[in-house]
Amino acid sequence: EDRLTGGARQEEDGGEGSLRPQNLREFIGQKTLRENLEVFIGAAKQRAEAMDHVLLFGPPGLGKTTLAQIVSRELGVGFRATSGPILQKSGDLAAILTNLQPRDVLFVDEIHRLQPAIEETLYPAMEDFCLDLIIGEGPAARTVRIDLPPFTLVGATTRAGLLTQPLRDRFGIPLRLQFYTVDELLLIVRRGAEKLAFALAEDGALEIARRSRGTPRVAGRLLRRIRDFALVTGKVADRAMVDGALARLEVDHLGLDAQDRRYLRRIAEHHNGGPVGVETLAAALAESRDTLEEVVEPFLIQEGLVLRTPRGRMLGEPGWRHLGLAPPASISA
Ligand code: ADP
Repeated sequence: EDRLTGGARQEEDGGEGSLRPQNLREFIGQKTLRENLEVFIGAAKQRAEAMDHVLLFGPPGLGKTTLAQIVSRELGVGFRATSGPILQKSGDLAAILTNLQPRDVLFVDEIHRLQPAIEETLYPAMEDFCLDLIIGEGPAARTVRIDLPPFTLVGATTRAGLLTQPLRDRFGIPLRLQFYTVDELLLIVRRGAEKLAFALAEDGALEIARRSRGTPRVAGRLLRRIRDFALVTGKVADRAMVDGALARLEVDHLGLDAQDRRYLRRIAEHHNGGPVGVETLAAALAESRDTLEEVVEPFLIQEGLVLRTPRGRMLGEPGWRHLGLAPPASISA
């Protein structure tokens, strides 16, 4: 999955570090979440204790990793990062946990993809700051309990519902990230252009913000592509120039790309607007169900282009309009 407008991390996002906000005040948007975090961070600092564990959930590219780093910086503690799929054995996790300094932040990306055995190792670690390790094999095997430094686990996942209940229950601070408004993305694009020392016209910045699928990572990616076009063509990056460049990149005025439109058209043309099951769509589009549900659909649903119903996906009225098709009478009524 390496779409220009997909929220998922890609190799070329490597330079992302330079655009990352460094503290809570620089972090744009997610107002409620930010205000809550500020309270919990302040309280943990005053008590000189590890902050409670945080679960960040929301579509890719909205700032979960960034927030985890900011939390550690604001707390003035160390930051360690790993991810669910990387951890293969309980020992891998034990090695990380036993090397933490007191009150450190441990960030676990894609925490819903932890293996069950590793997840169970995590329970006592989160709850009582200890590890139960099994030493030896067979009849000689015994369990030893190891104390851990108190730490803050920051877990990230696309949907809270993907976590098992016992894991979810161990996070004292669950926080949901929302898609960003165009105004918020405009601030992010402007700040990004400044950091890249790229002269972007105001109406050009607005056009990028409008077409970023509510996602800062996409905004950053479009900004870099526009910067390439500006460099090569020598044109001022104003609205017309951005529009032309994004059209060439097949990003339409809502920020949807060819894959999004294929998805919408599939429901319209092959299923008469639905409802159609997500598995059927995934098979027809040669995509994994997870990609559809976690990367493609959230923005389309939030914009009302697609509706999630108990019987499957349906095209919403704005979805028909976006394809330039007339909705069936039952919808437009
Ligand atoms: P996630 O972990 O949710 O996939 P990241 O934290 O890696 O997302 O953020 C993706 C990119 O978007 C990074 O380059 C980051 O700097 C940028 N970004 C995310 N949130 C914000 C924000 N609120 N303000 C500015 N930039 C942001």
